[in-house]
Amino acid sequence: MSHLATELIHHPYTPPPGFSAPQPGVFKASTVIFPNVAALRARNWKDKDGYTYGLHGTPTTFLLEEKIATLEGGRHCLLVPSGLAAIAAVDMALLSAGDEMLLPDNAYGPGKALAEGELKNWGITSQLYDPMKPADLQARIGPKTRLVWLEAPGSVSMEFPPLAHLAQICRERGVITALDNTWGAGLAFNGFDLGQGERRVAGSGADIVIQALTKYPSGGGDVLMGSIVTRDDALHLKIKLAHMRLGLGVGANDAETVLRSLPSMPLRYRAHDKAARELAGWLGQRPEIAQLLHPAFEGAPGHQHWKALCSGGNAGDEGLAAGLFSVVFHERYSPAQVDAFCDALRLFKLGFSWGGPLSLVVPYDMQTMRSAALGTWTQRGVPVRFSVGLEALEDLRADLEQALGRLASA
Ligand SMILES: *Cc1c(COP(=O)(O)O)cnc(C)c1O
Repeated sequence: MSHLATELIHHPYTPPPGFSAPQPGVFKASTVIFPNVAALRARNWKDKDGYTYGLHGTPTTFLLEEKIATLEGGRHCLLVPSGLAAIAAVDMALLSAGDEMLLPDNAYGPGKALAEGELKNWGITSQLYDPMKPADLQARIGPKTRLVWLEAPGSVSMEFPPLAHLAQICRERGVITALDNTWGAGLAFNGFDLGQGERRVAGSGADIVIQALTKYPSGGGDVLMGSIVTRDDALHLKIKLAHMRLGLGVGANDAETVLRSLPSMPLRYRAHDKAARELAGWLGQRPEIAQLLHPAFEGAPGHQHWKALCSGGNAGDEGLAAGLFSVVFHERYSPAQVDAFCDALRLFKLGFSWGGPLSLVVPYDMQTMRSAALGTWTQRGVPVRFSVGLEALEDLRADLEQALGRLASA
């Protein structure tokens, strides 16, 4: 089996004797029962060859962990109750008072809020870096730096950073890297071995790869879950201890929902990608739009980095990208007019998150989201992010067109 699409379906899961079905059973437990006191005492909760307590895993969550580890190209996986919990668990496992963490300025917002909230209160400092300037990251790594977060592309602004270069700088300085791979979903590129197909370089990526399974792996907009994948045994154990002490286990029903959606993810991802590129290409040409922010388009920030990493090999010449893009409205439109455009949309619903069948839209105020000192956001107009669902493309385009019509008359 050399294709992920196959590996996500075929798995050496063993059903109970006499029963065989495409999907695994749902094993629910807080309590796990031991046959005798000796077995209870001998049981090491860290070993995955048996079961100890629901928090440490059941056959259902172990199976999902194995599948996600396969998806990301890692060896170990921990499941947590949300994507944000995956970020938090990594921070809490690896950082202590006096340490410093570096985050890209365009990182997923709540991860930055955690740094400015609890982590700061606990004596852990953080700095933002410009992900498009490796020299800026290089200059900010100091003796206290213990963890560097990577993310591709940036949240909302969608600029694709030179990931391999950023990871290499950290490796040379002996600093652990964690990649938020929610956008790539383990499909657009491999977070541990950057590069595609022939050009994959083993170990050139991050040490830890997290994902919000809430997005494409769930695929329904109805489950919250996160994953933390590693290759290194010691690093995995360190995070696993924090995961246990913090009580971050997930329920079997939620795990089963993701297991059910996972086999169709490669198909869904390509469908979202294709539809988003069609709509982005069309919308980007409209006179109301000053800039299209989609890494697969020429002229979008970091397009060449996306192309180098996410095309060729399994991704094909067209490359792979998530069904997500932003546009910056021309500065002649006020934030209130852009809000009215979003309100006028009927099929695109107003809501956070992405990865489900329903198309979503959110207008953003970047001034509140970015460091003024770093100057990573220079656009003057209002950005709007679209998550393209699985509705008919013609209907989505007609919806955008009628809402743009309202903008003209507003
Ligand atoms: C959604 C998201 C998260 C957080 O996931 P939740 O499950 O909503 O907590 C983290 N990172 C990125 C890039 C995301 O898009």
